[in-house]
Amino acid sequence: MDRASFFAPKRSLGQNFLSDPNICRRIVASLELAPGDPVLEIGPGRGALTRILAGHDGPVMALEKDSELVSWIKAEFPAVGVVHADGLDFCWEGTRRLPGLSLIGNLPYNVASPMIWEMVSRCRSFRSMLFMVQKEVALRLTAKEGSRTYGALSAWVGNFVRGEYVFTVPPHVFRPQPKVDSAIVRFLPRPDPAWEDAAALSWTVKILFQQRRKQLGTILKAHWSEAVETWCGELGVDRRVRPEELSPDALRSLARVLDPKNE
Ligand code: SAM
Repeated sequence: MDRASFFAPKRSLGQNFLSDPNICRRIVASLELAPGDPVLEIGPGRGALTRILAGHDGPVMALEKDSELVSWIKAEFPAVGVVHADGLDFCWEGTRRLPGLSLIGNLPYNVASPMIWEMVSRCRSFRSMLFMVQKEVALRLTAKEGSRTYGALSAWVGNFVRGEYVFTVPPHVFRPQPKVDSAIVRFLPRPDPAWEDAAALSWTVKILFQQRRKQLGTILKAHWSEAVETWCGELGVDRRVRPEELSPDALRSLARVLDPKNE
């Protein structure tokens, strides 16, 4: 048994470690790294994916919150640049210093959604992202408007990246085994990310999807204005529409109309 196997998994850090080398190879291959591409792994853990990434012909970095694992990863993979940090409050904007960066991670399931929320909107020069999350979250991340799984997260993510559901991963490839299926999602940058509208968009999708079964006119009663009426007319939207029927682009243009700085 190697030293990494002695680290007891910490539930609070979502530590479900991959134990199947074939799945690990398939995950890393799905990132389609080209020689020279810089890559950052989020949550390397006991190094299941790091071991494969370490053979990549290009800069490899890893960001880990667990200090015990940070020390172990540094000793085990000296060529990997390890950052001891929390992905939830990391300065993702700083990744612009690494143009063409690819991000990969078997993300801690308890914080995967808020972490992805931050990463897609703050990483401004990435090439691609590939994450493992709970299957249910993967479906939400890649859902289209009008579907049952479409919500605030889908609308937000869809305004910054193009998402794709890559494949499903069963529980038996992890130690300890999670109770649910997992899935791989891939994100590529959108040519027109909503950086300028991010603050208003965040507020808009959160307000609207808190009441997703209500009609737009009811939710926005206090904010209904001539400008909103014009927006409805231009997009052919009825005030009885429900938020889940509005595309990411439609929500972005509504956010602009509702943004007090555009009044
Ligand atoms: N990559 C390894 C694997 O596939 O076996 C570990 C994946 S495990 C699901 C999630 C990893 O993320 C753990 O190493 C955990 O310590 C780390 N982690 C948890 N919360 C984190 C956070 N907020 N920021 C950075 N890393 C975190």
